[in-house]
Amino acid sequence: MSLFTAVEMAPRDPILGLNDQFAADTNANKVNLGVGVYFDDNGKLPLLQCVQAAEKAMMDKPTARGYLPIDGIAAYDNGVKALVFGAESDVVKSGRVSTVQAIGGTGGLKIGADFLKKLNPNAKVLISNPSWENHRAIFQNAGFEVENYAYYDAATRSIDFAGMLADLNAAAAGTVVVLHACCHNPTGYDITAAQWDQVIEVVKAKGLVAFLDMAYQGFGYGIAEDGAVIGKFVAAGLNIFVSTSFSKSFSLYGERVGALSVVANDKEEAARVLSQLKIVIRTNYSNPPTHGGAVVAAVLNTPELRAQWEAELGEMRVRIKQMRQKLVDGLKAAGVTQDMSFITTQIGMFSYSGLSKEQMVRLRSEFGVYGTDTGRMCVAALNSKNIEYVCKAIAAVI
Ligand code: PLP
Repeated sequence: MSLFTAVEMAPRDPILGLNDQFAADTNANKVNLGVGVYFDDNGKLPLLQCVQAAEKAMMDKPTARGYLPIDGIAAYDNGVKALVFGAESDVVKSGRVSTVQAIGGTGGLKIGADFLKKLNPNAKVLISNPSWENHRAIFQNAGFEVENYAYYDAATRSIDFAGMLADLNAAAAGTVVVLHACCHNPTGYDITAAQWDQVIEVVKAKGLVAFLDMAYQGFGYGIAEDGAVIGKFVAAGLNIFVSTSFSKSFSLYGERVGALSVVANDKEEAARVLSQLKIVIRTNYSNPPTHGGAVVAAVLNTPELRAQWEAELGEMRVRIKQMRQKLVDGLKAAGVTQDMSFITTQIGMFSYSGLSKEQMVRLRSEFGVYGTDTGRMCVAALNSKNIEYVCKAIAAVI
């Protein structure tokens, strides 16, 4: 008898489990389209030039590593505010935004979830169907009951917008609605600007709480373009939550750099909100780590590095779009007769391919091409060397 006799084995994380399987696969042609990671055309995880330059400057002037403030590096938090809301925006200038450095986008979501649970313990949380698999778990572990709102319609390979609006309309006041600000994970389908306006109208009319998850800013149409949706919520006078992740946009996955921003009605309210966010952080991990935040702060706040970052992020965005087109063309060349052009209407790092679980399993076992059982493939892991092989493999299972 041990303290742990009754402890059950938890299920493997579906995506990380897929990674283990990929690592063990001996197929020389294997391609990992499972995880949400951007690889360059050589199949390598990039180390951005702007990051290297910021790190070099830091190494040239080494500093001791004291504890950071609970809410992180001030220059980082201000950089995030400027990026997400606009440096010159009224909402930032009037001090209505509280931003805290977080351990990745996941950390931002978790800080927000814990704060919301204290604020409104009986609220429900709605996530899109489907959503990033960790959304449900994060909010459930914060003590919330989590349900879905309609989002993807497999039959039409598009968004069930009427269903989405109906579900939001039916939600009780105070319900937290988790929305993908851009580049929806896993489907790759985003709602239009006009549809966002309709969502905002419902959120406002029904007294819902919008929690915008911004994990891919810059991967859709551009940094400002992808961020425009936040401005719409602010213009509607809503108190919103925004989680930010720099994992993908800075290729700093392991540094765990993210943030949470909360929009209050005035400066005094924002200060009270910030004080509560700090309690959540203090009682979980005390304060954030230094390195990644310092790198991102340096890049965001140094004009030359900032320009370099925007160019490098732009290259990633453009390369993904090229891969989407090559995938459509390559599938046709490989003999797929059905219309696959939906791949180029999708945006961001992922494509919901419409392939069944059986087809995804065959792709893995017969070809070493790894995507999730739901048919999600990471187009950001395709490159000029593996695309033809992937197209032939998909054509063989379709
Ligand atoms: N939100 C979404 C929609 C994501 O896809 C991801 C990462 O894949 C995250 C949040 C988490 O980001 P991070 O790795 O910075 O915690």
